[in-house]
Amino acid sequence: NKKAIIIGSGIAGLASAIRLRNQNFDVEVYETNSYPGGKLAEIHKEGYRFDCGPSLFTMPQFLEELFTISKKPITNYFQYSKKEIVCNYFYEDGTRFTALADLKKFAEEAEKKFDVKSAQIFKYFENSKLKYDLTSTLFLEKSLHKLSTYLSLDTIKAIIRINSLGIDQKLHSYNEETFKDSRLVQFFDRYATYNGSSPYLTPGIMSMIPHLEQFYGTFFPKGGMYTITKSLYQLAIDLGVTFHFESKVDEVVVTKKKATGVIVGGLYKEADVIVSNMDIVPTYRKLLPSQRTPEKTLKQPRSSSALIFYWGVKKEFPELDLHNIFFSKNYKEEFEYIFEKKEAYNDPTVYINITTKNEPSDAPKGCENWFVMVNVPNNEGQDWEEIIQRSRKNIVDKLSRLLKINIEELIETEEILDPRSIESKTQSYQGALYGSSSNNKYAAFLRHPNFSKNIKNLYFCGGSVHPGGGIPLCLLSGKIVSELIEKDFKV
Ligand code: FAD
Repeated sequence: NKKAIIIGSGIAGLASAIRLRNQNFDVEVYETNSYPGGKLAEIHKEGYRFDCGPSLFTMPQFLEELFTISKKPITNYFQYSKKEIVCNYFYEDGTRFTALADLKKFAEEAEKKFDVKSAQIFKYFENSKLKYDLTSTLFLEKSLHKLSTYLSLDTIKAIIRINSLGIDQKLHSYNEETFKDSRLVQFFDRYATYNGSSPYLTPGIMSMIPHLEQFYGTFFPKGGMYTITKSLYQLAIDLGVTFHFESKVDEVVVTKKKATGVIVGGLYKEADVIVSNMDIVPTYRKLLPSQRTPEKTLKQPRSSSALIFYWGVKKEFPELDLHNIFFSKNYKEEFEYIFEKKEAYNDPTVYINITTKNEPSDAPKGCENWFVMVNVPNNEGQDWEEIIQRSRKNIVDKLSRLLKINIEELIETEEILDPRSIESKTQSYQGALYGSSSNNKYAAFLRHPNFSKNIKNLYFCGGSVHPGGGIPLCLLSGKIVSELIEKDFKV
């Protein structure tokens, strides 16, 4: 058998390992950490369990596919259920809006809470779907960097309708043109943060994201988000993939423009194929220091990062569900702070994820596990200790005000993740959550391809390369890599 080495066991590394094993490669995964999953990890503390990174699970079909191609029943590994309540929204003016999975109910609720007619909501989602249908094959499911992609019917259709895609307009102006109620504009603007971008900068085409959430639904994996990692890890093991933990790859060895292996712990490990799931910036800077670097790609601005407080809260809040958003008053200023001033904003939009709503055993009885996150700029050497102290106070004040209870008194345990620790734990350049940002209409084309143009047998997967960050896209990057390898090796 041919041999493949995967550098990193993030979600895309796991997906690539599973796919290449199915293509009959002998697969070895080297991982710096002592556990798999990268950003998709978990922590246990004083009777509480917290998912560390991703909390929103959409498009489960990409995960299902890995079990299907492996001919293993997914239910032996992984179970999930659809959420009826997608997310609760709290506004500073006292408005509370519950986004429901059923579109008709969603529109009815919107009509009650906002100055909008159901028909306008349906129209927005129709347009959102159209944008996704026109572009998903081109931008998400194939390598953007192979000529064959451009010769397909789907691509030609997308190009013909390019004007209707909203590439030249910003998401915020598109939403503002569509809805007159500023609260609803803020609601639809928030989808820019799903890939770490600003609604005031990212193109209107991102209005396709609400369609993904609404049409495909949001889901909760039984046992929490970390079950995604655990189930893929177990599937890979069952297929015969070998994992080496606490094994940092220090170099990709390149001879005559061909990747031949890696250096781990001073030892040379040979392979026919190398797939790096490490962020693309450190992959070039650290593992390939003597190779030509695609500077323009590596210098693309990074997506936003996050500051997260994991709080054990000794009370139950029936008004909250799995996903909850407490909006800032001035969204524009908030994004100016994150992307222009590169500072933490004092009235941040606060996201709270509470898995005990679906998995009561994640906290002691009568308590809840709060994952409290605010968007912050990526790490450029800001004074994070000061930002953490200031943000913590601002968050506690805001939540206490909106929930009408002293939150500080309820916090009985705390852990913190900030852009520095995101970077040190996963090698994510500047602690960005989603690789490069999409604050640019050419962003999709400037993301690094899933293969090296100069070095044979070297491939890339994960949130920092095509098609982008987030679990569904990372899983797709693993698929694209395996298809490229299949073609290149004709296995
Ligand atoms: P990563 O998770 O970045 O892992 C890379 C792995 O490679 C790490 O384990 C690292 O240790 C290893 N590695 C790196 N270098 C080396 C080396 N030299 N040798 C060996 N191993 C190495 N996405 C969603 O879909 N929904 C969400 O709700 C969501 N929320 C998020 C919230 C937070 C706080 C964060 C941090 C991310 C969130 N994301 C979300 C984004 C999502 O987590 C990422 O896009 C995705 O998990 C990235 O996966 P990846 O495959 O790129 O690898």
